[in-house]
Amino acid sequence: MSGLGFHNRRSVQKRLGTFWNGARLVILLGPPGAGKGTQAKRIAGQYGLQHLSTGDMLRDNIRRDTELARKAKPLINRGELVPDDIVLGMVQERIAQSDCENGFILDGFPRTLQQAQGLEGICRLYKSKSITVLNMLVKPELLIQRLANRRICKRSGHIYNLVDHPPIRPGICDDDGSELIQRPDDAEAVIRERIRTYEQHICPVIDYYSVRGLLYEVNAITDPDTVMANIMKVLDAEDPAK
Ligand code: AMP
Repeated sequence: MSGLGFHNRRSVQKRLGTFWNGARLVILLGPPGAGKGTQAKRIAGQYGLQHLSTGDMLRDNIRRDTELARKAKPLINRGELVPDDIVLGMVQERIAQSDCENGFILDGFPRTLQQAQGLEGICRLYKSKSITVLNMLVKPELLIQRLANRRICKRSGHIYNLVDHPPIRPGICDDDGSELIQRPDDAEAVIRERIRTYEQHICPVIDYYSVRGLLYEVNAITDPDTVMANIMKVLDAEDPAK
């Protein structure tokens, strides 16, 4: 990955300008363990949006052992943030693809003020009425319990929780019979560092979207169906087609 990867910025922006007429952008903020991954998948299905998780993109790079992964992996394993220029370059490349044409939901991005500003710079979309930022609010003590009990289907990425939503057969995905794994950064010491890092950087991001009138808070303490119902209330009221 070379620097920002912004060498093709002009051509990407030109393409985005054509793609994104009326497309919807949803940004999901919330600490690790807030349930962003679960809700982002549901929102993507419900509203026909592409689900873009920067964590998933980084893990995919690690699986493919890319140059980017060699820089990112030690940071991820320690629960620290990957540098803004790497993440911004990765997101920029991804959202320029045609499957994002009808809109997308960003899960785990932006995580810093620089990323929020970079996103604005890339997209020049902020005059659009179709941007909604959802901030998922959870009690801190719930986060560690949720993440430490999280297991993920190796093939589909389906998320289980050993306490709240266990698989029928231990260690096996109900949907496709694949193995369930625990993310290496869901170890308790790393979880604590991820939460600390999130809190350290997120306040200016929240302020940034709040002053632009784009931010909605969502109670994410309850069960996933209720959280989704809360999210849909916001997104239906903000529907750009209405
Ligand atoms: P997540 O799956 O969103 O919990 O992300 C897992 C890890 O990937 C984080 O702890 C960070 O190390 C890294 N990461 C994901 N998204 C970002 C981002 N937007 N900025 C910096 N690092 C990120």
